[in-house]
This record gives sequence, structure tokens and C-alpha cells, in this order.
Amino acid sequence: MFMHDIIIVGGGLAGLRAALAAGGADAAVISRVHPLRSHSVAAQGGINAALGKTDRWEDHAVDTVKGSDYLADQDAVEVLCRDAPARVIEMERWGTLFSRTDEGHISQRPFGGAGFPRTAYAEDRTGHALLHTMYEQALKSGIKFYEEWLVTRLVLKTPYLNTGTNNGRCSGVVGYNIATGQVEGFLAKAVIFATGGYGRIYERSTNSIINTGFGCAVAYRSGAALEDMEFVQFHPTTLYGTNILITEGARGEEGMLKNKNGERFMERYSPHLLDLAPRDIVARAIQTEINEGRGFEGGYVHLDLTHLGAQKIKERLPGIRQISMDFANIDPIREPIPVQPGQHYSMGGIASNKECETSIPGFFAAGECSCISVHGANRLGGNSLLETIVFGKIAGENAVKYSKTSEFEVPDSLERSVLEESARISGLLNKTEGEPFFNIRDSLKAIMDEKVGIFRDEQKLTTALENIRELQMRYKNVFVRNKGSVFNQELVNAIELEGMLDIAETICIGALARKESRGSHYRIDFRERDDANWLRHTLVSYTRNGPRIEYKPVNITRYEPKRREY
Ligand SMILES: Cc1cc2nc3c(=O)[nH]c(=O)nc-3n(C[C@H](O)[C@H](O)[C@H](O)COP(=O)(O)OP(=O)(O)OC[C@H]3O[C@@H](n4cnc5c(N)ncnc54)[C@H](O)[C@@H]3O)c2cc1C
Repeated sequence: MFMHDIIIVGGGLAGLRAALAAGGADAAVISRVHPLRSHSVAAQGGINAALGKTDRWEDHAVDTVKGSDYLADQDAVEVLCRDAPARVIEMERWGTLFSRTDEGHISQRPFGGAGFPRTAYAEDRTGHALLHTMYEQALKSGIKFYEEWLVTRLVLKTPYLNTGTNNGRCSGVVGYNIATGQVEGFLAKAVIFATGGYGRIYERSTNSIINTGFGCAVAYRSGAALEDMEFVQFHPTTLYGTNILITEGARGEEGMLKNKNGERFMERYSPHLLDLAPRDIVARAIQTEINEGRGFEGGYVHLDLTHLGAQKIKERLPGIRQISMDFANIDPIREPIPVQPGQHYSMGGIASNKECETSIPGFFAAGECSCISVHGANRLGGNSLLETIVFGKIAGENAVKYSKTSEFEVPDSLERSVLEESARISGLLNKTEGEPFFNIRDSLKAIMDEKVGIFRDEQKLTTALENIRELQMRYKNVFVRNKGSVFNQELVNAIELEGMLDIAETICIGALARKESRGSHYRIDFRERDDANWLRHTLVSYTRNGPRIEYKPVNITRYEPKRREY
């Protein structure tokens, strides 16, 4: 058994920022991979903050609330935007090498849905620059790391799989050591989840392979509600063939989208912001062009950067150029990049307030796994990196405060949880026949791509939900061929698959119930936003009898919902 005042699960930007904020306390980070392999490292285009002389955090908040299609909680958005300049400057002081203007200020580029060039960047490798800085700071401050441990369960005072009615305090986690196969308990006074998004339940996704949403699933099974899961962001421009992200920064630098007739089609969909309309709008526009026969064969359009010139592309978008050359054999200096929309970001997640508290005392969430909700129905590019460092800090500070008022629990429930998890995992290992996990996983991804994508309707969603429930039945028969205990990735995948199915189910349930179109959730059978009935957050909780759905109001401070036009 291990013991720490504060356990942080996740070594990405949110987790590391929380660990730094937990400073003086005894804090440890558990991560499924080495922290520098977290998906944060892949972020490209930049991070938003009102740093400009004529920009104001209030304007950033207006853009964010409008971008969210008015579903974001406005009190939380105010925290995000007000704190942004201080957090970005802090990263700079800690050592992040941001790109610079000729005068030596942090350079900022225009991004989708923003009324000001507000996105600070380090070429097109911003996540890389930020995560390395944050990791250096974490090493310097002596934070303890448990690398390559998969957390499979929260330890609660009340029994596991509770009904959501009595959320006992969280007093630790159970981890599976991927390197050795050992199952261990971690006793803590407070636990923070910063476990990232769930993009990989889709096939066409820009996300790292590890972004299975397993952290959200662990929280869900332990009684924490998941919020607004139906809002899945599809990025307009992912590389045709591999779906590697082509940053919005490429359009921020004046790249243009064109259909097969060479037409700049965004003029028809967003006459003012054109290619820099918010992502939900641009993704739908591209998909409409493809569906109506104006895309190229195979289903893509062109992102044209050729007019930017070699120098600008090499200076501002070197990563994009490299990706295009390596994965599509195309040099964007000379040829347009073939792009199509792909899953990119999880707006939904573990329901949390702006103090990062969840419904379980002692259990906090921050970063992409949380739904605080600052992104509402559609996240603006550059706001997610920001969310990790603003709310990572708050989660760390509040976990410290909480830990000062709580004691370590007597480890009874921890021991019981460890025994149960060991039994569950060895049960999976000892099974001698059944269905391999990848059959079920690949079917899940195909269902999500086809039926729970950019354009949704009742029939597709109903079928998707039925199909997912069939897969849940098949999962009971899942079996792993590799019986080893050292780096058994097949076993890890099989464990996570159960969580992926849970997450997919909550997305479908939320999407089926929400009979309106808002942000990324577009129903062709209910094309309008319906504030009278649907200006509210979806909450889905796990119960033994299946998911339970509830709603809660949106926090509105000063931005009255309006028609969203760009
Ligand atoms: C290709 C790409 C480009 C992006 N570009 C931008 C951008 O330019 N600007 C922007 O604002 N946003 C961008 N985003 C989004 C942004 O990068 C992410 O939302 C953000 O970095 C998530 O950080 P995080 O700390 O919440 O999670 P992550 O960085 O995903 O880290 C999750 C951590 O949790 C750990 N973990 C998960 N489950 C478990 C478990 N069960 N047990 C133990 N450990 C676990 C993992 O090991 C990992 O360390 C981009 C996203 C992608 C995919």
C-alpha cells in the first residue's frame, strides 16, 4: 500500500499543474504512461489569453460563451478568462519558449470564433513546449511519480458501484502496475483526476491511442455523474487517411478551405468569419460539401496554404508541413492539404464545479476529463490548454485545503477494493476462451463514426445505443490471449474497453434525449436550438439498473443567450 496526502491521476498539463499547486503537501502523480507522453504534448495551435493591449478578458469571455452556444457555465468562464493572462505569463517565466513578435512580445494568432488574435503559440508545437516546461517544474519541486500505472477504481467509504445516492468520501485509488502486473492500493486524503479525453472511442480521431476516457469511466462506475457527454467536438481539418490534426492555426495564418471546384465554400456558411468560424460550424460545412458531392473522391476537401509562401510556413507551421510530408507525401508550400473532419475533443466529462469539486467529497477533476463547464456545447480552439492550467491549479489548491480537514481513512475499504480488483483482473487473465477485445473495440469505433458523428438523428442514435448494448453483452465474454504480467497491453486494452463502452453509452443516451441542435450536437430531425427546453446540462449517473439521466440549469451571469451568427 502507498500513502500520500494527495493523489493526482494524470501526468498531462492539468495533472502536473495540480501537482505543482499542491506544493507543500505530500502529492504524488500516477500516470498510465510517462508524463511526457500524455496527449497534452500533441497540442499544436496555441493557448488563449487576453494579453494584447486592446484585448480584455471580458471579450475573451464573450467569445467563449457565444462559442459554447450558451451552454457554458458563465461563472466558470469568467474564472477561465480572468486568470488566463497570469497563467500564460507564469508558463513563460517558467521557461516556455513562445513564438515572439518583432518587438519581443509573445506572438498571438487569430483562432476560430475569437474576436481578437488571442492565441499565444510556440510555432505549431505549443503543447510540446508547455508540457516539457511543466514537467521540468514538477521534477524540480520533487513530486513523486508512479509511471505506467493504470488506475482502475476509486476507493470510497461506502461500497463500490453505489447508486449515486450516497457518495461516500473518496479515500484513495486502486492501481494496476503495467510493468509488473501488481495490483496496489493508494491511500489518500484527496484524489484529483486529470485523466484526459475519450476521443479514441471513435476510429477517426486526432487523439492519442491512450485517450480512451477510462478515467471518466472509473469515476462514473464509482458514482460520479458525467455531464454533457453528447457534446463531442469534431475538428474540421484532420489529415485525410490518418486523421492526424492539422491545426486551426493553419487557417489562423490565412489558410483557406476549398472544395473540388476550387470554390472557397466557407463564404456561404459563415460570411464574416469564413474559415475562422467556430469548429462546429466549419466541420458541418466541410461534411455538407462532401455529402453533397463537392468534396474529392474518398471524402475530403482541400486546405490551401500555398499562397502563404515558404518562409511563413517554415516559421509558423513547421510541424504541419512535416506531418503533411511524412503522412500524405505532400509539401503544403506547393500543394493543398487533403483534410476531412474527425473527432477531436471531449466537451463532456466528470461533472465538476468551478472549484473542481465533484459530487464525491474528496474527489476533484480538472482538464479534459472534467466538465466544469467552460466549453459548453462547443469549445473554442486554444481554450483547452488554458483550461488545464487554470483549473489544474485550482484543483491542486482545493485538494490541499480539503486534505487539511480530513484524515486518512482506516484502510479497510482500500484493502477490500484491492482484493476485488485483483480478483476481477485475474478473472480476465484466467479465462481460457472467448472473444478477443479488438473485435468489440473495432465494432464500437465503427458504430460511433457512423451513427454518433457530426449529423445525428433519432434512428441512427437508437441503433447505435442498441449496438453498444449488444457489445456490452459480448464484453462479458471477452478474453485475452496474452497471459503475461509484464507490460500486458492486451490486458490493459481489455480492461479499458469496458469503460469505453460505458462512455459510448452515456454519449448516445445524452444525444438521443437532447431533441435540439446546439454547438457540436446537431440533430437533423431537430435543427434548431431550443432554449426553452434544452438550455440545461445533461447528467448521467451509473446505477445497477442502467444509466440514470438528469438535468441541471446553466449558470448565467451576464451574457443572455442570443442567436449565434458569425
Ligand atoms: C492533436 C491535438 C492538438 C491539440 N491542440 C490544442 C491546441 O492547440 N490548443 C488547445 O487549447 N487545445 C488543444 N488540444 C486539446 C488539449 O491538448 C487537451 O485537451 C489537453 O492537453 C488535455 O490535457 P489533460 O491534462 O486534461 O489530459 P492529457 O494530456 O490527455 O493527460 C491525461 C493523463 O491521464 C493519464 N491517465 C488517463 N487515464 C488514466 C488511468 N486510468 N490511470 C492512470 N493514468 C491515467 C494519462 O497517462 C495522461 O498522463 C489538442 C488536442 C489534440 C488531440
